[in-house]
Formats: sequence, C-alpha cells, structure tokens
Amino acid sequence: MYDPLLDKDPGCNAPYPASYWAGQGQAEPGYPALQQERSADLVVIGAGYTGLNAARVLAGRFSQHVVVLEAHQPGWGCSGRNAGFVLKGTGRLGAVQLTERFGLETAQACYREYRQAFEQVATLCQKGAIDCQAQPPGYYKLAHQPRFLPLFEQQQQLLNQHFGEQLQYLSQAELQQTHLADQQACGALLDPDCFGLNPLQLALGYSRLAEQAGATIYGGSPVLGWQKQQGLHRLQTPQGSVTAKKVLIATNGYTPKDFHPLLNGRILPVQSSIIVTRPLTEHERSACGFRGQPIVMDTRALKYYYRLLPDGRLLFGGRGAIQGRHADKPRYTKALRSALEYSFPALAGIDIAYQWSGWVAVSLDDLPHLYQAPQDSSYAGVSYAAGYCGSGLSFSALAGQRLAELAMGQSIPNLPCYQRPLPAFPFARWRRLGQWLYYQWGRWQDKRH
Ligand SMILES: Cc1cc2nc3c(=O)[nH]c(=O)nc-3n(C[C@H](O)[C@H](O)[C@H](O)COP(=O)(O)OP(=O)(O)OC[C@H]3O[C@@H](n4cnc5c(N)ncnc54)[C@H](O)[C@@H]3O)c2cc1C
Repeated sequence: MYDPLLDKDPGCNAPYPASYWAGQGQAEPGYPALQQERSADLVVIGAGYTGLNAARVLAGRFSQHVVVLEAHQPGWGCSGRNAGFVLKGTGRLGAVQLTERFGLETAQACYREYRQAFEQVATLCQKGAIDCQAQPPGYYKLAHQPRFLPLFEQQQQLLNQHFGEQLQYLSQAELQQTHLADQQACGALLDPDCFGLNPLQLALGYSRLAEQAGATIYGGSPVLGWQKQQGLHRLQTPQGSVTAKKVLIATNGYTPKDFHPLLNGRILPVQSSIIVTRPLTEHERSACGFRGQPIVMDTRALKYYYRLLPDGRLLFGGRGAIQGRHADKPRYTKALRSALEYSFPALAGIDIAYQWSGWVAVSLDDLPHLYQAPQDSSYAGVSYAAGYCGSGLSFSALAGQRLAELAMGQSIPNLPCYQRPLPAFPFARWRRLGQWLYYQWGRWQDKRH
C-alpha cells in the first residue's frame, strides 16, 4: 500500500480499494489523464472532498479557469473510503477542549463554522441531486469506561447551554434497552442530527458539481514535478503539465513524501482500517439490540467506530498498521474483529466481507489548518488545507470553499484553524516512533478504569 511518509510517488490511476463502497456497483468515473501542456488560473492538486469543493467554488462563484489534477480518480483517497459519518466537528478537539484551549467565544465561533460545514453537506447533496444513501440521524458517543460519564455530563451541559445543541445523555440501561446493546458501553451521549452516508457517492457527486461549475478534472495525473518560473507554477504530470499563478494543495493524508516545503514534516499520516460483515440476520440484530441504523464512536484513545449499513451489514473501524506495507497483515483485521466481538458477543465468528484501510492526516495541535503562503515568500500563490485528524467528511465541504476564498483574496473567518500554518512536528523524522509510543500509551490508557 502507498505510504505517504515513505513514497514520493502516489502512483497513477490505481483502482479504488476493494471497499464496501466501491463494491456497490456504480460506474467508475474514468476521468482522462492530462496529455498536453496547458495553462490555467489555478490548479487544485487532489480530487477528494476538499479539492473538489475548492474547484467548484473557484470555477462557479469566481469564474476562474480551474484544473484539478488527481493521481487516481476522484475520491480515491480518504474521501471514497471513509466510514461515512457526517459529524459536526473536525480535528480531535470537541467543544469542551476548544473552550479550554481558546475560551468560550472562540470555541463557539469554531463550532458555528463546523455546523455550517455539516449543513453544507446536505445542501450540496440536494443541489447536486447526489444520492448518497443518507441514513436516519442518530450519533452515539459511547463511554467505554465509567470515568467518562462525568465528562459526558459536562459536555452535554456545555453544548446544550452554549452551543445550541440538544444532546441526550443515556445511562447504560437506557442505551442497552432502547438503542443498542454494546457490551462495552457504560453510557452514551446521543446527538440526534449526525448521520451516515455513502462517502464514495458523495465524492463522485462533488466531482460532478465541480465539473458542472466549469472545472476541468484530470484523473491518472499525479503531480510529480513542480517548478517555479517567473512567478508561475509549472506542475508536471506523467504525460503533461499545467502552468498557473496559484496552486491549492488538497492532498491531505495522501500528501507524498517531500511534496512541498509548506507541508513537509507537518502531517502525520495515520492508518485507519475498516471491516464490514455480511448482512446481519434479524436474530443477530436483535441480539445486538440495534434499533435503527446508529452511527457510533467510543471514548478510547485508540478509538473504535461502527455503524449499521442500509443492507444490514455492520461496518467496524479503528486503528490500522503503522506502516503502509503492513496494511494487509491479518493481525489488524483480527484486532478489529476481536473488538467487534467484544462489543457484540452474538456476532462471534461472523464472516467479514470487506476490509480496507486509508490514511488520515493528523496534525500536531489536533486542529485542521488552512494556510496561504505570504505574497512576498518564495511560495507565493500556494495554499493548502490539511490535518483533519480523521474527521473531515463534513468540514472538507466548507474547507474547500474557504481555501478557494483565501486563494481569491477574500477574507475568511478569524478562527484558530485559519490563522496559522500547520505546526511542524519536532523531530519529524521520528514521527512513526512517536506514533508507536502513543499506541502503547493508548493501549494502557484504554484499559485503565
Ligand atoms: C478509514 C477512514 C475512515 C474515516 N471515517 C470518517 C468519517 O466517518 N467521518 C469523517 O468526518 N471523516 C472520516 N475520515 C476522514 C475523511 O475521510 C477525510 O478527512 C476526508 O476525506 C479528507 O478529504 P480530502 O479531500 O482533504 O483528502 P483525500 O480525500 O484524501 O484526497 C486527497 C487526494 O489527493 C490525491 N493526491 C495525493 N498526492 C497527489 C499528487 N502528487 N498529485 C495528484 N493527486 C494527489 C490522492 O490520490 C487523493 O485522492 C476517515 C478516514 C479514513 C481513512
């Protein structure tokens, strides 16, 4: 598997991973490769949610001549292979942590932005008639240890009083009797708005919207070389090149090694892995206490997440291997299966029909960042959005728009995630060692009562 920390070349036109989403039978988009020398006002690198939304806004609202260069096909990265949780947040800081770090007013402003992003997903789906199999809402944050229950109460109070939310606190008995019977859960916070969808359909829908707005998308066109001549950027792909004044980097967790000085050493690509079971029988569903089609995440440092899919399968995800070359080792599937069985003993030994992994971009300060290089720097004209820390489905819809606004010289909200570049990891060469140490700590922490 491509490893962004080690590989300088992201590959070219690889098929979509054998995920449940890619197995739903929709036609692959087949965008052609760039095969000429051409110019544009702006180039967007990467056709995930961020890049496609940026391209849509640049071409539509700002009438710019935009070219999108994607190494594979739209949604090949995280955007077409995630779990499809549409959440009101991004990064690793919830409302409580945002308030602790930045104060209530700034935390509220961040939350308004996250909420706007959440709402934008539905608006875009409606506008573009994107059928992404949205499921009925209901997002459960599960406490895997009783010590998280007081934090849940604090979260519920803060969010309901100061952030306009209507979170519901569920005791263990309420949760198990009327929502889902996860044997690991000691209680839960229910957000009645968040929901699940088919992420690949969303990405393909976004690419249609970007095209309809006037952007030109090239698949199978990895940027392999980058020169700057007389204030213009020239991006080289295997069979062509584009010259433009401005470049938006939207490669996020899939950013290749040493891709651009603005991003080098500032992202830790972390693998998240998913397994999907065969459809559960009626008996199994009721043994697991599933009502509706919940989307669920727990409080572990090394989180697990799961959701019931429209055809009754259980999607279950969590931490994957540290290195790309170990992605397909059976022990990672085994670890996810044991966690699934631990939560739902009735599913012991269930067949796993799909397994895949992807790279999420973790930032040092747990926040995403949008950044534009200053006009007087050698990187003038370059901007990026990255570091969503595994929670970017909804945020990317707005981040793409903000990135476009930034590139067009418009002002964007004055929020911590838009004020500064991604902080550099200290001893960046040793990021993987730090990750391994974090995993050891996390395992210990997650067992602690
Ligand atoms: C297993 C998994 C589960 C997840 N679940 C959720 C979830 O349920 N909810 C949620 O909110 N978030 C989730 N995420 C995170 C979410 O998917 C991402 O935050 C989001 O998709 C990021 O979108 P993006 O457009 O910024 O990046 P990506 O979708 O990763 O797009 C980057 C693109 O850049 C391309 N690229 C890279 N290098 C080059 C190059 N040199 N030239 C041209 N193209 C290049 C790649 O091919 C890729 O298509 C999950 C992630 C994973 C891996």
